[in-house]
Amino acid sequence: MKVLVAEDDLTTRSILKAVLMKWGYDVEAVRDGNEALAALLREDAPKLVVLDWMMPGLNGVEICATLRAAENPLPPYIILLTARGKKEDIVQGLQSGANDYILKPFNNEELRARLRVGERMIDLQHQLFQAIEQQKKLAYTDPLTGIANRRAILDRLESEMARARRDQVSLWIAILDIDHFKRINDNFGHLAGDRVLQECVERISRSIRKYDCFGRYGGEEFLLIFPAVESGAEMQTLERIRKTMADREMNVEDNSIHITVSLGAVKWNGSDTMDEMILKADDALYRAKQNGRNRVEYDRQSPAAKNPPVQVPGTER
Ligand SMILES: [Mg+2]
Repeated sequence: MKVLVAEDDLTTRSILKAVLMKWGYDVEAVRDGNEALAALLREDAPKLVVLDWMMPGLNGVEICATLRAAENPLPPYIILLTARGKKEDIVQGLQSGANDYILKPFNNEELRARLRVGERMIDLQHQLFQAIEQQKKLAYTDPLTGIANRRAILDRLESEMARARRDQVSLWIAILDIDHFKRINDNFGHLAGDRVLQECVERISRSIRKYDCFGRYGGEEFLLIFPAVESGAEMQTLERIRKTMADREMNVEDNSIHITVSLGAVKWNGSDTMDEMILKADDALYRAKQNGRNRVEYDRQSPAAKNPPVQVPGTER
């Protein structure tokens, strides 16, 4: 494990470096507080730190306070090294964010034991962090398709709305619904239905830009978000998605299944709430279904509605 030793006194620094290396640690040694903070703010910062209190530049307590304020989810474990042994000094050191302290002159075996405690804490912290990340991922992922679930895509839409407002860029959304999805389940079984959903996700992924995103909004419904699209590009994209489904059959569980999708799209007017915008997309989707499916319909107020794209209805099968 990598340890940062920050100590201005040459003799103490050399001794620390020598014993830590003897114990198998990978040691990085610095001579003042500014170097120490720079090392600790690096991406690959050491997680275990032996920090002198009194140093040129920032002192140890100031470094602790700065690191705690940074709210890193995986903060370093800091052992403060100090000749200041008064109760109030120790309290101040721990309150500034140090995890532990050792008085100078230090005893080697005590230092070693305290470093071990630090390693154990870092290990636990790391495991906890990974468990939390895993839980977050599960809470935001649709298990069948691996894409964002309803909660995640709505969260994303919320932040894209904030970004569109801040950067004064356009924002389109669309709701895509697989036509007659129930028939697929009825005729080919639920496993085939699941595979169709997965194949839809792959085809949508290949049809959108890397800044666009989409999630599973409901059973066979997907919510698509297109931030900062050039005028007219949204029509091309939506038409491409419609075509990528209708043009080629899906080979699913030894069956060749032809599906089509309907889409309802809306451009955010900058004042609608998220719910109002989604409702407009839903209305447009409803019209796409009414008008024969396998087509894209636009919210009437959205600019694209003035110049509707030519719709090529797919062959109903
Ligand atoms: Mg010192």
